[in-house]
Amino acid sequence: MQRRDFLHYLSAGAAVGMMAPFGNVLAAGSVTMPGNTGANGRVVVIGGGMAGTTVAKYLRLWGGTGVQVTLVEPNPSYISNIFSNKVLTGERTLTQLTYKYGTLTSKYGVKLVTKSVVAIDPTGQQVMLNDGSKLPYDRLVIAPGIAFDALPLSGTAANQAKVVHAWQAGAQTTSLQSQIKAMTKADTFILTIPAKPYRCPPGPYERACVVADYLTRTAKTKGAKVVVLDANPGIQAEVENFTNAFNNIHKNITYVPSAAITNIDADTGTVNTSAGAFKGKVVNAIPPHKAGKIITDNPLLASAGGRWAGVNVLSYESNTVPKIHIIGDAAATTQPKAGHVANAEAKVCADAIVHLLRGEAVNPSPMTNSACYTPITNKTASWLSVVYRYDPVTGTMLPTGNGVTESSGINAKNHEEMLKWFSNLMSDTFA
Ligand SMILES: Cc1cc2nc3c(=O)[nH]c(=O)nc-3n(C[C@H](O)[C@H](O)[C@H](O)COP(=O)(O)OP(=O)(O)OC[C@H]3O[C@@H](n4cnc5c(N)ncnc54)[C@H](O)[C@@H]3O)c2cc1C
Repeated sequence: MQRRDFLHYLSAGAAVGMMAPFGNVLAAGSVTMPGNTGANGRVVVIGGGMAGTTVAKYLRLWGGTGVQVTLVEPNPSYISNIFSNKVLTGERTLTQLTYKYGTLTSKYGVKLVTKSVVAIDPTGQQVMLNDGSKLPYDRLVIAPGIAFDALPLSGTAANQAKVVHAWQAGAQTTSLQSQIKAMTKADTFILTIPAKPYRCPPGPYERACVVADYLTRTAKTKGAKVVVLDANPGIQAEVENFTNAFNNIHKNITYVPSAAITNIDADTGTVNTSAGAFKGKVVNAIPPHKAGKIITDNPLLASAGGRWAGVNVLSYESNTVPKIHIIGDAAATTQPKAGHVANAEAKVCADAIVHLLRGEAVNPSPMTNSACYTPITNKTASWLSVVYRYDPVTGTMLPTGNGVTESSGINAKNHEEMLKWFSNLMSDTFA
């Protein structure tokens, strides 16, 4: 599949799994919604992020009016992590990256409950909310994203609070933006990358590039340095493009592989690692990830090492708890933890649930794809793409063709295409 096809793929709202056949149609807003397609049941979705919002929308769009979908999300709106690195450099605002759930309810008839799920009762098939109420389900989809391990931090509470990850867009993004803005040409920005798996494999290297670019473009900070301390033995995505960026475009970046953190002294800005000690004015430390708390609170669901949810990728049903499906970053699969993949997994899951509610078999050969554009400067970008297909021998999603392809260059055209890709992905998820 060619890179340009991904844009069309998304804009058409195409299913990466098999599209459920429509029954009678009725108009919901300007969207043609199916009537009853023979799929009947209550589906509760936990988490209104990239995965949860997409599955809620497509369950209604493909399942029709017999599928009652309730989305439980504590926040009234969603802030995109994608492009949040551009907030650090002042090219975007968090407001511009904020998406509301109005369309989901008005166009697609999803019921929104602005609360958190605090417990799951798989035997009674119900979830408990933070106000003490309960929601029964026939099928449950859990899409809570990630949680972070604690970092080995020392120092005063005030200084520790300055060591942020900004790996979940929101208040920490604003804090990191202010800290970067306050830097001078004599200062160093330290970015630490956790061991994989973490969300958005190219994301930390992208952040190093856009921060290095910003520091070079601003007179007050020209000469400031960026040090990348990677717990992994090497760059985890787009190796050729990032090696080129670090060596030739951003000479103010020092990349240190195999640098696992032993301690961060927040008072002195010293990061002690297995590769030595490094001192910086700003320490942006991304902790190791695990699945969202609602998964790790339930040892049965956290079947992949107690940290991630093991699933059957034909339907994303838990491999330990029936009628519960887990999608997005929280699921342990061979696919990367990324928003584009979360959207694709959600469609495979929605299609599978619609078939299961009709008493039919699920698609035996689903496909998903990942396309990721990476800003390298404020005007240029690179990209990677990969298409996955279900492999019945291993029971996993395996890359097709040549596997992961990366762009043969870093240029302005990619930057333009990146804006369209982002707009299409967010429309397919929230509009
Ligand atoms: C800096 C950065 C850049 C990125 N760039 C890209 C990119 O270019 N391309 C790409 O594809 N991906 C990118 N990503 C990754 C992408 O953001 C994630 O992979 C994606 O958001 C995962 O979707 P998700 O639905 O699993 O989790 P999320 O989007 O995090 O959504 C989880 C939702 O669940 C809710 N929730 C959690 N617990 C509960 C509960 N108990 N009850 C109710 N609701 C709950 C949360 O409030 C949240 O809204 C980037 C990430 C970062 C940090």
